[in-house]
Amino acid sequence: MNVVCLNGEFLPAEEAKVSIFDRSFLYGDGLFETLRVYGGHPFAWTEHLDRLERSAGRMGLRMPTTRDTLRSMSLELLRRNGQSEALLRIQVSRGQGSRGYSPKGAESPIWVVSTHPATPQDPAQPTRWRLATASMRLAVSDPLNPLKSSSKLLQVLARAEAESQGCDEALLLDTAGGVVEGSSSNVFWILGNRLLTPPVESGALPGITRDAVLRIAPDLGFIPRESRCTPDDLRAADGVFLTLSSLELVTATALDGTPLRESPGTRSLHEAYQRQTRSGPH
Ligand code: PMP
Repeated sequence: MNVVCLNGEFLPAEEAKVSIFDRSFLYGDGLFETLRVYGGHPFAWTEHLDRLERSAGRMGLRMPTTRDTLRSMSLELLRRNGQSEALLRIQVSRGQGSRGYSPKGAESPIWVVSTHPATPQDPAQPTRWRLATASMRLAVSDPLNPLKSSSKLLQVLARAEAESQGCDEALLLDTAGGVVEGSSSNVFWILGNRLLTPPVESGALPGITRDAVLRIAPDLGFIPRESRCTPDDLRAADGVFLTLSSLELVTATALDGTPLRESPGTRSLHEAYQRQTRSGPH
């Protein structure tokens, strides 16, 4: 039986219910984090909780519980579900208020923690994804994009469009044609010994895996740098990969049907990331 934690109470998933007036259901007025759990330890807990609390602060959403409670409940939930290699999802919603967009009166935010199976990773080779450029564009440097909010309609539709074209992930561009990120991932490209990724100011989510890869890169001889780019830059790169907590590093093998070059650097970075994630409590 899969158990979830709703506002501090452990319940079978099918018995955990929230209101049809909950603002995350009505407007996507909430936030979430997805963490990968290795050997029972959520990786980069502090970084994920920092992002959650920072986003909540930007939205004027009061966190419904403390970080310590979220951690102890998350660990207990993993224990109850017997999962040590898993995904942990933390959802916070502004809860119920009066009718309409105004958040006035929504004073009782709610929270949910759930666990999900992790896709096992082949240690010898990152997952491989074909990319399709999304037809929907993000506004240039959209200030809402760096929040990991529950309003993900553009990402949902972009992903569906990519999948309808036989691809695995959508590449999101801004209205000026610049590359921002994937629908569920950050994007990197390799040029010689340079490792490049669009800056957060371009509208990309400040990905936790992105940060970890930028930190690991110098040890492997890469010079990490933030840089804006176009799809043509990705096509000219020595290698392109994506990062996301659930799948770590993912090799991008093609963009809109054009094969992308593959760099051995992607595999080295993936190996280094795997060593870091599996090196014990974080
Ligand atoms: N960008 C978007 C839009 C995302 O939803 C995600 C998470 N799935 C990422 C990037 C990657 O972030 P992280 O490395 O923190 O999982």
